[in-house]
Amino acid sequence: MTLDTVVIGAGPAGMTAALYAKRKGLTLALIADSVGGQMGTTGNIENYPGVEGILGKQLALKMHDQLKKLDLEITMDRVTGVERIGDRIRTTTGNGKIFDSRTAIIASGAHWREIGVPGEKEFANRGVSYCTTCDGPLFADTDVAVVGGANAAAESVLEMTRFATKIYMIVRSTLKADQILADRIMSNPKVTVLQGYDVVKITGTDFVEGIEIRSKAGEQKTLPVGGVFVEIGQDPNTAFLKGLVKTNEKGEIIIDEYCRTSVTGIYACGDVTDVPQKQVIVAAGEGAKAAMDVYTYLSKL
Ligand SMILES: Cc1cc2nc3c(=O)[nH]c(=O)nc-3n(C[C@H](O)[C@H](O)[C@H](O)COP(=O)(O)OP(=O)(O)OC[C@H]3O[C@@H](n4cnc5c(N)ncnc54)[C@H](O)[C@@H]3O)c2cc1C
Repeated sequence: MTLDTVVIGAGPAGMTAALYAKRKGLTLALIADSVGGQMGTTGNIENYPGVEGILGKQLALKMHDQLKKLDLEITMDRVTGVERIGDRIRTTTGNGKIFDSRTAIIASGAHWREIGVPGEKEFANRGVSYCTTCDGPLFADTDVAVVGGANAAAESVLEMTRFATKIYMIVRSTLKADQILADRIMSNPKVTVLQGYDVVKITGTDFVEGIEIRSKAGEQKTLPVGGVFVEIGQDPNTAFLKGLVKTNEKGEIIIDEYCRTSVTGIYACGDVTDVPQKQVIVAAGEGAKAAMDVYTYLSKL
């Protein structure tokens, strides 16, 4: 059987795309190796309209429940390949399943780069954060560290100057942010930039209490901080596409305003794309857009 569409990924982008596709009466499969994606692993989400505060996992379960009510089950599997064969798209999974469809929606999200030091995983959501926009306000009147030296880290530092008491910016080599951002950081009395330092360890008991850093010369120090923001970049989950669609220099799938990729019939939405705002609400909105345009595209065929 050839499906109308296959949705890859069950984060907010994929689950919203599936919701819209199902409600349009399309035949589809929703394939994912986790329910909720990054959203499912976050702590409290406080910036999703209509929901004042909800654990990411709970929001993911609510989206999943909504799909179940429409008789849509998620195929829990890892997608290993997507290829175009004539006018069909073939999706292959790790468990050896094959899905043929007329369109596909890639919503496989991204993963944040980790520093890979002791304490990082242990204190995730307990002082270690990968998203300043999401978690910044939780660190009001606290001393924090931001790890990273490019624009994302610089923006994180500047955002934290609104909440935190003191911000240590820990840069492995030298500050590589745009000059205008670097100037703002350097002139802000709340910020101390420490260049040429590696993070050794994140410490604490129940919550983060400090970060240990070491200079290239071997000088080691512990900074007493209540929060650590890791801002060293994000990698999109696109390995299974094996270069099928066009990507930008960050490996993100390039899409147009209808979420169309460079390959006809293949759409993408959410954090896997070159849309710069990586947020639940944006991913969900893009998922809706993708499914709506899939419907329009199929109607015209
Ligand atoms: C720690 C943290 C805190 C955050 N806090 C907030 C917040 O408070 N508010 C906010 O708006 N945003 C927050 N974000 C950002 C938000 O979580 C993401 O922008 C959003 O989840 C992106 O949705 P997505 O559906 O595009 O991708 P994801 O959520 O990454 O979902 C991707 C999906 O694809 C699946 N997948 C990937 N590869 C494959 C494969 N090969 N085969 C099968 N399935 C695959 C995954 O299992 C998952 O189901 C946070 C992110 C992090 C990491």
